[in-house]
Amino acid sequence: MLKLSQKADCCGCGACAQACPKKCITMIPDSEGFLYPAVDADSCVNCGICEKVCPVLKNAKPESDDVLAFAAYTPDAELRENSSSGGVFSVLAHEILRRDGVVFGAAFAEDLSVGHVMVEKSEQLSRLRGSKYVQSRIGDTYRQVKELLEQGRTVLFTGVSCQIAGLKAFLRKDYENLWTVDVLCHGVPSPAVWQQYCREQEAKRASKLERVRFRDKRTGWRSASIAMDFSGGEAYCQRNATDPYMRLFLSDICLRPSCHSCRFKDVPRLSDLTIGDAWGIEKHMPELDDNRGTSVVLVNSEKGKVLWETVAPALVSRQGEVDTLLPKTADSRKSVKPHPNRSKFFVALSQGATVEQLCKLTRRSWYRRLLSFGKRTIKRLLRK
Ligand SMILES: Cc1cc2nc3c(=O)[nH]c(=O)nc-3n(C[C@H](O)[C@H](O)[C@H](O)COP(=O)(O)OP(=O)(O)OC[C@H]3O[C@@H](n4cnc5c(N)ncnc54)[C@H](O)[C@@H]3O)c2cc1C
Ligand code: SF4
Ligand code: SF4
Ligand code: SF4
Repeated sequence: MLKLSQKADCCGCGACAQACPKKCITMIPDSEGFLYPAVDADSCVNCGICEKVCPVLKNAKPESDDVLAFAAYTPDAELRENSSSGGVFSVLAHEILRRDGVVFGAAFAEDLSVGHVMVEKSEQLSRLRGSKYVQSRIGDTYRQVKELLEQGRTVLFTGVSCQIAGLKAFLRKDYENLWTVDVLCHGVPSPAVWQQYCREQEAKRASKLERVRFRDKRTGWRSASIAMDFSGGEAYCQRNATDPYMRLFLSDICLRPSCHSCRFKDVPRLSDLTIGDAWGIEKHMPELDDNRGTSVVLVNSEKGKVLWETVAPALVSRQGEVDTLLPKTADSRKSVKPHPNRSKFFVALSQGATVEQLCKLTRRSWYRRLLSFGKRTIKRLLRK
């Protein structure tokens, strides 16, 4: 039977719960708001399947370390504006739908919680478009994927890399008709914190929050904003650097424990293709930068290469070096340290602190700020 020695060993992919033949595993939120498997020991028959499909226990390694890197964006200005980076996700998704396939990805629900859903029509793709900075519930999508694959349908599954690892471990074999695309991520915040922020924003205006865009580009791609629309016609737009929820996310104070010792971040990766923000593009390839969003694309497998070569002519793109387009030091490539006040943060959350009050915990002490200033200065001097 599945036993977790520490919370950091579970990324919450739900592969175990979906694979259990006795349906005796339920994904339940812990006190921090993250889902973990709970096993009903009375119904368990000790078949060991849950352990076999756990991507963390399985520790699967990518088959090839031959990785290609590109910077790219779609020339469709509206599509690019509505995408977080260069809109590469939508171009890949359109290609799969054109082949009568289905696309899985993260979408908002009515209460603005985030979960994985399946899309079969182009006009539904906007549900998956755009980054949602909160952990997405996988639900029973791995089972749906398996069913569709066995019916011979073409499937594109997208998500953060531990979700791709979970799907691959769940399937336990390769399917010619499956493509996987992971989005680079530095970590996922707690759904409980996001829900609290949504309800606080609604209470302030006595109005229902209807729409959220985490990467609104009216203030530019590099300095994007979180934008919200309310049922009463009110709107809110705040730069990510100053919005309280985004400050919590970016300070690494409310990320899932597994994100601080992530097994799935580095290159090479398990997915066919990886997409992310091409940060620093203005230095490496200024001709591909106009501050409207440029994606970095990693081609990780032969299959990924075939799909990439099909869509690339529809994009503005250029090949580059992997470590230049995605530096080894990027937060999306190595695990980030938890904020020193992480424990205090979750205690305060459970005691009813507001998101604005919680934000004060992101301020680092004078001692820590001095220490990191010292480290940065020494590194700079050593580089010279
Ligand atoms: C939590 C999170 C953290 C990220 N951190 C980084 C980072 O540190 N560095 C970096 O370069 N890029 C990061 N990204 C990726 C980046 O924000 C863009 O999503 C990516 O570049 C794709 O952009 P696009 O323009 O091609 O498509 P878009 O339309 O913007 O992206 C849509 C894709 O994102 C997926 N997606 C959206 N929200 C989630 C979610 N909560 N969980 C799983 N999948 C989701 C959708 O399923 C779809 O595949 C992060 C994304 C997420 C969701
Ligand atoms: S050992 Fe088998 S029956 Fe028991 S929880 Fe795991 S998958 Fe379910
Ligand atoms: S990582 Fe996934 S499969 Fe493993 S225990 Fe956690 S939810 Fe289950
Ligand atoms: S940092 Fe790792 S564990 Fe966390 S969401 Fe991203 S891929 Fe999953």
